[in-house]
Amino acid sequence: MDYVAKISRQVASIPRSGIRDFFELVQGRDDVISLGVGEPDFATPWHIREAAIYSLEKGHTSYTSNLGLLSLRKEISRYVSAFFGVDYAPGSEVLVTVGVSEAIDLALRALLNPGDEVIYHSPCYVSYLPSIALAYGVPVDVPTRKADDFALKAAMLEAAITPKTRVLMLNFPTNPTGAVMPPAELEKIAALCIKHDLIVLSDEIYCELRYDEDAHVSIASLPGMKERTILLHGFSKAFAMTGFRLGYACAPAPLIEAMMKIHQYAMLCAPITSQAAALEALENGSAAMMKMRDSYHRRRDFVVGRLNEIGLDCHSPGGAFYVFPDIRETGLSSKDFAMKLLDAEDVAAVPGDAFGEAGEGFLRCCYATSFEELKTAMNRIDRFVNSL
Ligand code: PLP
Repeated sequence: MDYVAKISRQVASIPRSGIRDFFELVQGRDDVISLGVGEPDFATPWHIREAAIYSLEKGHTSYTSNLGLLSLRKEISRYVSAFFGVDYAPGSEVLVTVGVSEAIDLALRALLNPGDEVIYHSPCYVSYLPSIALAYGVPVDVPTRKADDFALKAAMLEAAITPKTRVLMLNFPTNPTGAVMPPAELEKIAALCIKHDLIVLSDEIYCELRYDEDAHVSIASLPGMKERTILLHGFSKAFAMTGFRLGYACAPAPLIEAMMKIHQYAMLCAPITSQAAALEALENGSAAMMKMRDSYHRRRDFVVGRLNEIGLDCHSPGGAFYVFPDIRETGLSSKDFAMKLLDAEDVAAVPGDAFGEAGEGFLRCCYATSFEELKTAMNRIDRFVNSL
């Protein structure tokens, strides 16, 4: 059978994830310290796991409403109102999804007609480009720069807007740079979205993980923006719940209804056990979440300090749990640096170009790993850089 001919052109044309390629090399090597996977090193807080166990014990093993349990949507609405300052009606403006991943896919498929352009900032999360392509959209990336601390500049965004632009994807704090948006620049971006009638897909999955004084501002909270924003959030990062696969979208009712149409046929609903755990996370999880955040904060300060000491220029990212040091001084490409570091010192980090061309010359290191491992990894990177 000629399977190649059987695969859709759309699927055949999307690239494999650069992260996956790199990590296939590391698989099965216990000696390697991995700064690669973007995942908390904490297990989900015990009381949240317990809520999942109790839910099973009580025999709650059914489907839920397609939108998600109403009790959870009410709690999401309360949390979002308190955290982001935007009010959403639990009955019609909140959709519980299988992670932010599913919400991204639903939103793009609900919004795009073939050939519509979607702008996103890069370097960015590896799923954005393929998700746009799979929804028959045209991905248009706007590079962000180290000189701007990887924030998106409104002027660069404006230059990329065409009559075909339908959607702007934002992700602050950003995977892989940890960048946050200065509120004044975000206001300029909001004004452009209103001027050009764009819908914004705002992936704020790292919004609780902010380390400096400035508070997180969602573009949805700016004047005139709630009506054109799909706010995406979830439980994977701040609550250390990646395996529960739970996220949500908040948006005006007609947009939620369009996303729900796809969700009800493709997924039916998010798993009820995960929804029970998420309810507990929102009701009682803030202390555990803040403890984890404080721990990431200490690790960020340590890693940024060490990388700069080593001579790899590294800005101090305002959020998420990644650092994105500049490795250009070494004369190596991102891929060469990552491969040689792995060969010589058994430390795995992701080449910056896996997140788009704008990431060339950088390395993504996830610092959600133990302090001991981070210390050892930094010493090994030091030795490696000195050996060049
Ligand atoms: N969005 C960003 C920016 C991410 O970094 C990730 C995971 O790394 C996701 C979405 C996926 O999140 P979820 O586990 O909720 O599907």
